[in-house]
Amino acid sequence: MSNISPELQALAPEMAQWRQRIHAWPELGFEEERTSALVAEVLESLGLEVHRGLGGTGLVAVVDSGVPGPSIGLRADMDALPMDEQNDLPFRSQRPGVAHTCGHDGHTAALLGTARQLVAHPPKTGRVVLVFQPAEEGGRGAIRMIEDGLFERFHCDEVYAFHNMPLLGFGEGSVRTGATLQSLGVFEIAIEGVGGHAAAPHRATDPLQVAARLAVEIAAIVGRHIDPMEAALINVGSLQAGTTHNIIPAHASLSGTIRALSADVHEQLLSRLRALCDGFAAISGCTIDLQLPHYSPPCVNAPEQAAFAAEAMREVLGADKVKTDLRAFPFSDDFSYMLEQAPGAYLFLGMDSAMCHHPTFRFDDNLLPVAAAVFDRIVRKRLG
Ligand SMILES: [Zn+2]
Ligand SMILES: [Zn+2]
Repeated sequence: MSNISPELQALAPEMAQWRQRIHAWPELGFEEERTSALVAEVLESLGLEVHRGLGGTGLVAVVDSGVPGPSIGLRADMDALPMDEQNDLPFRSQRPGVAHTCGHDGHTAALLGTARQLVAHPPKTGRVVLVFQPAEEGGRGAIRMIEDGLFERFHCDEVYAFHNMPLLGFGEGSVRTGATLQSLGVFEIAIEGVGGHAAAPHRATDPLQVAARLAVEIAAIVGRHIDPMEAALINVGSLQAGTTHNIIPAHASLSGTIRALSADVHEQLLSRLRALCDGFAAISGCTIDLQLPHYSPPCVNAPEQAAFAAEAMREVLGADKVKTDLRAFPFSDDFSYMLEQAPGAYLFLGMDSAMCHHPTFRFDDNLLPVAAAVFDRIVRKRLG
């Protein structure tokens, strides 16, 4: 791509090496020991001070111009997924059951390349906060870094992140204003009641029946309670009850996910779910316990920062290669927590591969200098 500086082009092989080293030793969320050691090693070799221990294995380094000005946060995620990859690569995962099939190895390597470029050519004003986040999958990493004082210690006026996107072709990019990725909430429902003999249902409270009816009612929430112009999804993914044909079981359980493009709609879905649990508890005599072990809000891009990101992408990819009118994607990313702390943008860079989370997903190393160039342009736009 002609709009990438010769310096970044020259850095491409080294970025690919970093990426492939991370790829060969993938680590799950909060276990990114070797990955963060590699990141720290590279950052220290650039003369940057590395701040460890934010969110466990998370790291931060700051490139400071020494001149007062805005502070721009750039974030990369570092974790892998609990699955095997089915690629025959010389640097394929050496760890059975763990693989970089979402491309976070590439995100990390691209941010390291950006760091190197920024150290070689510091911005004219302000500073850049480089955030290497653990545990994006499962969504606890961002919130843990924030709880550990990420933004108190390293104030950011704006934050940016990118994700590779196999739904776009290589050389294409997209960013939109407003909701970009959905919220994700997990719910777990435990139903406890009185079991017994199948021939004596009047002596039982039958949690199995409650679970089955609850599953049907949950499926009707969106259609009956949510504005049809809103995006909303609530899905039961597991239902467990009973052991054999002639016993009424004493417990049953359900679990599922909630997704929406606004925190309000997410809350509406949850409040209907709570009402259903309370209602079925009242009419059945069972105890129904609703747990919400995971939530990440929708990613919402600020208009001004989304426009800067689009401009930066156009400069790198070409004016006709950047889409700003695509619909939101139905995925989620806990970068949303950072977007709640500072205005920013989450952008997508296209790449030819199987979809993320597929065993044959393959990060394209050609994307590394592209991503680093986009980050670099965003910084130059804001800080000079
Ligand atoms: Zn993923
Ligand atoms: Zn991902």
